[in-house]
Amino acid sequence: MTTETLRHFWIRFADRIQGAQDELNRLDAAIGDADHGTNFARGLARVKAYCQASEDDWSDAIKAIGMALLSTVGGASGALWGSGLLRVATRLPHAADADKATLTEAIDVFVTALKERGKAELGDKTMMDVWLPARETLHERLDAGDSGWEALQYVARHARIWAEATIPLTAKKGRAAYLGPRSQGHLDPGALSSAIWWECWLEEGVA
Ligand code: ADP
Ligand code: MG
Ligand code: MG
Repeated sequence: MTTETLRHFWIRFADRIQGAQDELNRLDAAIGDADHGTNFARGLARVKAYCQASEDDWSDAIKAIGMALLSTVGGASGALWGSGLLRVATRLPHAADADKATLTEAIDVFVTALKERGKAELGDKTMMDVWLPARETLHERLDAGDSGWEALQYVARHARIWAEATIPLTAKKGRAAYLGPRSQGHLDPGALSSAIWWECWLEEGVA
């Protein structure tokens, strides 16, 4: 996959989160502080501007995107996305292209970084309820013989199902955890924005 595809992907994600901003705020209003859409859209507007102007290699691009999110999103999700991407950047090659193994490793490193920092388990009603099954399913599909592209698309088609599966759960991490059982019956906003990230692969051309 080329860095050009990577940049197109992040521009698409920025546009999608911009469009979903009100919905993400509403979801966060129910179990948090109503800022997830606003904060993420603000950070991604910075990312979009960077992607439209830059010709950086893979590693530098992910580093710049991580820095932009870390410094402009704020809150739990800004720290998690930002620090996770910065960790990924240290492992990526300074190259204009990334192969299947590099992409898989990038996802692995990202999810491990999220887990180490946020300490959320599967079922805690967070973005990890999308990222953990996504990582597992990606590996399953690659082991079954899918190309990197097919595996990404397969995960992308299931991401929203995993996000929606957070509805009945009781939040164990983040602000929503203060609500205890009253967090049940609401979709986790961070799980939805992560599902939207995955869904952006469905519309990206083959790299
Ligand atoms: P804040 O809660 O600080 O206002 P956001 O509203 O931007 O931050 O993000 C909230 C989302 O962050 C939640 O919906 C959840 O998915 C995610 N989140 C919160 N805490 C954690 C955690 N410890 N690990 C993983 N994800 C978390
Ligand atoms: Mg919030
Ligand atoms: Mg907040």
